[in-house]
This record gives sequence, C-alpha cells and structure tokens, in this order.
Amino acid sequence: MSVFAELVGQAEAVATLSRAAAAAARIVAGDTAGNGAMTHAWIFTGPPGSGRSVAARSFAAALQCERDGTGCGECHGCRTALGGTHADVRFVVPEGLSISVSEMRALVLRAASAPSGGRWQAVVIEDADRLTEAAGNALLKAIEEPPPRTVFLLCTPSTHPDDISVTIRSRCRVVALRQPPADAVAEVLVRRDGVAPDLAAWAAAAAQGHVGRAKRLANDPDARARREAVLTVPRRLTGVGACFDAASALIEAAEAEAAAASADTVTSERAALEQALGAGGTGRGAAGAMRGAAGQLKELEKRQKSRLTRAQRDALDRALVDLAAFYRDVLVTSLRAPVGVVHTDTATQSSAAAEKWTPESTLRRLEAVLACREAIDQNVKPKIAVEAMMLSLWRG
Ligand SMILES: [Zn+2]
Repeated sequence: MSVFAELVGQAEAVATLSRAAAAAARIVAGDTAGNGAMTHAWIFTGPPGSGRSVAARSFAAALQCERDGTGCGECHGCRTALGGTHADVRFVVPEGLSISVSEMRALVLRAASAPSGGRWQAVVIEDADRLTEAAGNALLKAIEEPPPRTVFLLCTPSTHPDDISVTIRSRCRVVALRQPPADAVAEVLVRRDGVAPDLAAWAAAAAQGHVGRAKRLANDPDARARREAVLTVPRRLTGVGACFDAASALIEAAEAEAAAASADTVTSERAALEQALGAGGTGRGAAGAMRGAAGQLKELEKRQKSRLTRAQRDALDRALVDLAAFYRDVLVTSLRAPVGVVHTDTATQSSAAAEKWTPESTLRRLEAVLACREAIDQNVKPKIAVEAMMLSLWRG
C-alpha cells in the first residue's frame, strides 16, 4: 500500500508530493533535467488532525523509497522511514511549549552531513509554530543554504506570521491540507482500524475532521466519557456557583487526562536517567558525579513539567472545541441551516436550546468559547479564562 494511504481526503497534496518524490528519485539517479517538482524546504499546513505530520512522514518515506521514489510502502526504505527508524529521517517533536535554540542547532549540524543511505536526508519538524525566534533563525540559515541532499519538512497550523516567520515561509513550498470530510474519516476508520460503520460515522462527525481524535473516540471508552462530561456543561450552568463548579471540573478533567497520558513516560524516563548515571556510586569523583547527576535530574524534571503543561493545554483545548461545536449545533438548528449537527448524540439538547435562546444569544455563547481559547493561547491563566467563559455561557 502506498506511503500516502494514511493521508485521508487529501488527493491534491498527494499528487504534489508524489510528483516531487519522483523528481527526487531522478535527481538521485543523476538526471537533473525537469526536476522543478522537487525542492529543499516544505511547509505542511492544515487544521489540527488533518494529517500535517502524517503528510511530512509519508513524503520523507517516499524520498527513501527504493522503487524510483514511488512511495511503494513495501520496500525497506519506505517501511523504516514510516516506522521512524530510518537513519536519514529525523523527527523533531518539541517536548515543551517551544523548540529551543540548542535543540535546533544540534539538528542543523546533523542535517549538514550527507545521507548515509545515499538518497536524501529528511528533517521533519512537527509543531514548527513552536520554534523560538532564536531557533527559527538557526533553522533559517540551514534552509537558506541547504546541503545538496537535505530536505526540511515543517508542520504548522497555517502560514500566518504568528505560526511561522515570513522569511522561513518565503523559502519553502507550501502544501495546504484540508479538513478531511467526515465520510472520508469514517471510511478510513472502517478500512484501517476495523471500526464498525455506525460507530465510525458517529466518531468521524463528533471529531470534526480530526482523524486521530476520531480514532480515539471510536476505540477508547475513557475518551468518549470525557467528551460526554464536557457536553453536560451547557445544561449544568444554573447559577454563579454552578459556573465556578463547572470551570473547576473542566480544568481538573484536562489535568487528569494529561497526567494519565504522561504518567508512564515520566517514571520510565527517570528510571532510565538514574540507571545511566549509575545512582549510588561511591569513591573518588563520586561527589562531583552526583552534583552533575542532580543537575541532569533537575533538567529532566523541568522538561517533564513543561511537557505536562502543554498536554494540559491541549486537553483543555479539545474540550473547548467540543463545547463550541455544541453552540454551533444550536445555531444551525435555530437558523434551520442545511448542514448536519456535529454532536448527533446531544441533538435533543441542542434543539431544545434552539427553542429557548435567540440566535443572537447563542452566537454570544459561541463567541465566549472562542474568546476563551484565544485568551488561553495568549497565556491568560486557564482558570481565569474558563471561569469568565462559564459566566458568559450562563448569562447568554
Ligand atoms: Zn518504497
């Protein structure tokens, strides 16, 4: 199966990337004519869950394909690149809220070497919107003078200057992914993951085009329970006290979800580091080694804490997206818009709310949720932002 098979509902992007991979294979073969389809730096944009990193990974695999760059998905190059073990495909995944300059410098240095497999060296930067300014500058230098066989693949939500610097953008070719249609997402859940068609259709609609989230909703009862809890918020807001309770509950749920998701890594990382440091050593030099060890443990704890903060924000944001969709459902119902509701399982509640509220007040509620997301993005303390939102949702 083609390396691009996981890319759902993105025919145009797949065509562009396939042409580029074929041109890249011709360059490797020594044929330099008509290879404009290939270039050294790419940006993959699209809404969360549309498959930005899947697209980058698939393209990196196609560049390593041993069958004329077709991205056959079967040869050794394709399989190891997709599996994340190919020596010439590197991934940068920021652990915290940003990619640091030292991380980026180390990467740029490694990227300057010739590919060991003789094809291309691919550097995939997931969440390139989380580059610090200094890290962005380090990357820019490498993109401006790329080693002959090195390709940079950047993933960001958009090409807005908030997400990626204008100068980096100007050096890259952009592949824009769309929000995949719900039926395409449902189809892949059935085909790839063996989900029952009814469940797949529901999960695809509820996930609003986010492929990974659709898969979790289809397979993970905890994810379904968390979503249901979020969707009880609108009917629980009966007074000021209830608003504050709902705000605490929403934030605690996001914290619990993030902690559960990272608990295993936190323990195993600490154990691995302690083992590497040979904890409990004695004798000459042991005191100095212990001081160094304490520093490294502190560094690890710092990284883990910043990763946890990010996971909490992501979990809270997912909850807010679900909540926003509920008010959107109310609005499309009261306006009798010819589009389906996102949350089919709360259609009774959303149509009851549509009877009760004016479209204007529903719109104000929807805007309150979006304003809350924006505020958190601007570093307002989540508790403050969510409490303000709950009060607006109650008043309407
Ligand atoms: Zn292949």
